Amino acid sequence: MALIKCPECDADISDKAAACTRCGAPVQEAASRIEVQLDPKILVGAKVSWNGERVEVLRGGRSLDFDIQQDGVLTVACGLYKSKLNVAAGKTTKVFVTTAPLTGKVRLQIVDSYTPRGF
Ligand SMILES: [Zn+2]
Repeated sequence: MALIKCPECDADISDKAAACTRCGAPVQEAASRIEVQLDPKILVGAKVSWNGERVEVLRGGRSLDFDIQQDGVLTVACGLYKSKLNVAAGKTTKVFVTTAPLTGKVRLQIVDSYTPRGF
């Protein structure tokens, strides 16, 4: 969690807050975000990286989301395989991770991509 300045009153508020705790001004959602959802059938952990930096090791059926500052490359490694996906900043991108039934190759599929409210 990070602190940001309220655009209205300059108070320090959480970037997760929906509104300023002092003046009530609405806080915009993060403009650039990735949500990664792992297929429940994947039993091994999946290593999720953004621009080469480890974000988290995800278990099957779990999801994670994180903010991004600029365009970059999402990498998900699962067992012997890994797969990369270019993701643009400025919107929320939902990615579903599956593995091919026979080979175990990782597949990254964008299931949703939208610009958050207020932009
Ligand atoms: Zn405020």
